[in-house]
Amino acid sequence: MPWFWEGLKTGVRTLRPGAVRLPSGVTPGRPTTTAVTARDRFDANICPVGALAGRDAGVAVDFDHCIHCMRCQPPKAPVHWQNDYRWAQAAAPPLPHRFQRSIHVRIVDAGDCGGCLSELRQLLGPVYSLHRYGIYVSPTPRDADVLLVVGPVTVGMRVALEETYAAMPDPKRVVAVGVCALNGGLFADSFAVMGGASRVVPVDVTVPGCPPPPLAILHALELVTGLSRETREVAES
Ligand code: SF4
Ligand code: SF4
Repeated sequence: MPWFWEGLKTGVRTLRPGAVRLPSGVTPGRPTTTAVTARDRFDANICPVGALAGRDAGVAVDFDHCIHCMRCQPPKAPVHWQNDYRWAQAAAPPLPHRFQRSIHVRIVDAGDCGGCLSELRQLLGPVYSLHRYGIYVSPTPRDADVLLVVGPVTVGMRVALEETYAAMPDPKRVVAVGVCALNGGLFADSFAVMGGASRVVPVDVTVPGCPPPPLAILHALELVTGLSRETREVAES
């Protein structure tokens, strides 16, 4: 229970909203496109999913496909790793203001390997304490404002996902968590998967990562609720 001992040492029982924190968990951060490199020492083939590409002036990283294998950490590749957690992207405005402190989330496991669900589960514990933001996990889609999808969406889960979305009242938003839910991830070529949530339901917010750390998932929920600065910018544009 390292969080328990840290809490005793620092006197901080939970993360403060807005506090600067690194994306603790299984990842040291995220690789980002790097402008200055010694390209002759760089081999894009070290990336097992083809998410790295050499450019004239640097290295381009396709973060929506990166599986966080960490093979491109220096000195193996001249890629800059960023220790932030604001990984989510919103394609739709947040839910109306009146929802901000009472958001109910329906989680659908559409073929998750266990990694994304494990990170999600951390949000419900005392370190992240999701409930203090007014965000709750709903046992039924009929009360849910947000559909949170993990996994590449197996063919067997397609109908369940469609029906879950249809059962939710308007207004509603869909968040795809993890590269599997974005595009199928490592399973994209399998005959048994649809290749991402957007093949079945309209996706409003995406969180890359494999898996994304809890703070990155929390960032996506901030975009949905309008609690983050980026969300307000999307709404105003
Ligand atoms: S961490 Fe792995 S998957 Fe991601 S860009 Fe680097 S080599 Fe590719
Ligand atoms: S994104 Fe990675 S951790 Fe999440 S379900 Fe897919 S393989 Fe598992």
